[in-house]
Amino acid sequence: MHSKLLLAAVFTASLAAQNQPVLGEDTVKVSDHVWAIMGWPNIAIVVGSRATLVVDTGLGPRNGATIARVAAKLAPGDRKLYLTTTHFHPEHAGGDAGFPGGTILVRDAIQQREMELHGQEMIAMFAGRSPQQKELLADAALRVPDITFDTEARLDLGGVTARLLWFGGAHTKGDELVFVEPDRTLVSGDVVQNKVVPGIYGDGGTPASWLAVLDKVAALNPLHVLPDHSAPGDGSMVALEKRFIGDLRSSALDLKRKGVSADDAAKQLAADFKTKYPDWPSMNVTGFVRSIYAE
Ligand SMILES: [Zn+2]
Ligand SMILES: [Zn+2]
Repeated sequence: MHSKLLLAAVFTASLAAQNQPVLGEDTVKVSDHVWAIMGWPNIAIVVGSRATLVVDTGLGPRNGATIARVAAKLAPGDRKLYLTTTHFHPEHAGGDAGFPGGTILVRDAIQQREMELHGQEMIAMFAGRSPQQKELLADAALRVPDITFDTEARLDLGGVTARLLWFGGAHTKGDELVFVEPDRTLVSGDVVQNKVVPGIYGDGGTPASWLAVLDKVAALNPLHVLPDHSAPGDGSMVALEKRFIGDLRSSALDLKRKGVSADDAAKQLAADFKTKYPDWPSMNVTGFVRSIYAE
């Protein structure tokens, strides 16, 4: 089988794990220094000659411990382990207690502020969703980061550098992106997804700030993109995300000017966009159209 087709098959199979809150130990290689555990969410593991970086924790400490085990298997020996999180939501940041004691936790200052304001409340909300999630989150303890940064932190892992970036609000205020050089691999969190309608959580970013973030992401010129809740792809995902949000935003603002209500606009645009973007699996744009109306 052609390797691209094989990868596609692997990713399709792993999509079944996309909503399963217990992560497995299988990894997929994304680029020279980057591996991923595909699940809810996808976890990136960046391996250098001296240190390893994990991006996101999984839901609760048990998942965190699984990821730490996988990272140690990929890169055995006594080495530094860094951990960072794409945003403060519990399946991304609620598992840090499962990592070994010496793990160096890094995140942007705005994300940390959101964590302090809303982290516990989000854990309670997620724990209320099912007995399984409640159990997974039972021992969640939110650690204070060892390092916080404003717009960028560079981690030299040995032969590979991870740039931890805050470009502005999108899905949340504190969305962090990780750009791995020289691979040109972008770990994109919720900011760039693969054919998934975007969602702004609470008072996160705005559609306009999301577009501004995407301009900065495009300037990185990534070759590989690993999102948190959809399949990996190439750099064209950034342009597609930008086109979709720009298109939805200008169409919704048109309808707003004509006096159409947000919910009627969402209904009409869902139908239009199903035709415009036929290979997107779901087209529920209600939340995002409301965000556009509220801008
Ligand atoms: Zn989220
Ligand atoms: Zn998520």
